[in-house]
Amino acid sequence: MTDDVQRSPGWSDWRWQIANAITTVEALKDWINVTPDEEKAIAATSARYRWRITPYYASIMDPVDPRCPVRLQAIPHLDEIRPNVYAELDPVGDMHYRRTARLIHKYPDRVAILVSSTCPVYCRHCTRKYHTTDKTGTYYGEDRSSSFEPDLEYIRRRPQIRDVLLTGGDPLMLPTRRLEQLIEKLRDIPHIELIRIGSRFPVLLPQRVDAELVSMLARYKPLYFITHFNHSKEITAEAVSACHSLADNGIPVLNQTVLLAGINDQRDELLMLFRQLGKHRVLPYYLYHCDDVNGVSHFVCTIASGRQLMEGLWGHTTGFVLPRYILTTHLGKLPLWPGQLTTTADGYELSSHTGGHIVVSERGTRVASSPMSWPGMPFEGTRG
Ligand SMILES: *Cc1c(COP(=O)(O)O)cnc(C)c1O
Ligand code: SF4
Repeated sequence: MTDDVQRSPGWSDWRWQIANAITTVEALKDWINVTPDEEKAIAATSARYRWRITPYYASIMDPVDPRCPVRLQAIPHLDEIRPNVYAELDPVGDMHYRRTARLIHKYPDRVAILVSSTCPVYCRHCTRKYHTTDKTGTYYGEDRSSSFEPDLEYIRRRPQIRDVLLTGGDPLMLPTRRLEQLIEKLRDIPHIELIRIGSRFPVLLPQRVDAELVSMLARYKPLYFITHFNHSKEITAEAVSACHSLADNGIPVLNQTVLLAGINDQRDELLMLFRQLGKHRVLPYYLYHCDDVNGVSHFVCTIASGRQLMEGLWGHTTGFVLPRYILTTHLGKLPLWPGQLTTTADGYELSSHTGGHIVVSERGTRVASSPMSWPGMPFEGTRG
């Protein structure tokens, strides 16, 4: 069955992949031996969380081993609904820094726009799980209008903003034409220097990165593409071809990895992942400490283990394929490695570029900190 599907004419068409995405245990059984635990977890989490898997991503799963890193990222787990007192819906304060329905302004010179709330696969470890995967959650608040005009107007009125990150959900869920209209309007703003697209399509559905999309994006340089490979198993011929096509057309491709317990928290795996990405001209940018988001806690490693992993890589391979190990906090992204941490009785004390301080536990959860808005932040205290 699976071989026939992979040879079918629809396979390389991303619209076919989304129309035929797997959303039932029966459909998943066409690809893997679903274990009783996986089946139980799919049923138990379904009232709260979405799940969906592209046939492409299912095709790279290990059909027998439930510890397969692709399975663990895509198939719901019972731990997602187990209570965890430290987890939060939004530990990094995205909602606090939201200025319009979709725009987050957390750093003086750059903003993120949550272009969509949907994705080709709902990654179980998503840091915006409340926005993307939670059936009742959204960061958009009351305003669900489809126009980007208020977001664009916010940027037009603030010349200090020079860098715009389109993220989500996945921005490539938008039809190419609609995405182009947004990018075109951003390019018309004289003070916008960089545009970045944050998308996991090269990993979850690389067929989306087709000639039409790449030639559209190439018209709006300088434009950077930031993707999200977590394991070397995801670096397939199709994924490589998507990344090459972007790079060949002058669009640098960067990668953000999330450090995930049971998936990539081993030195040799990270070494292989970063080396292979470098070989394919995909530059490892950040290694994120996994945020303690509701439904994600079972993936969180300790900061000590993350630092030890990075120390085990330094000097052992090409310097520029080693990412910065980062903790995202409501004060911004703070380096865990390289970087100086002060050890305290409760965990670690970190300081931010704006002079803020935060104390976090060994898992990275906030124990104490300076306020979210601090003197010198470039925007008014209220939303608008
Ligand atoms: C990560 C992020 C950015 C970009 O940060 P860089 O460190 O420049 O990559 C911008 N805005 C928000 C809200 C972010 O979370
Ligand atoms: S593609 Fe990105 S935004 Fe979407 S579920 Fe996965 S991690 Fe979250």
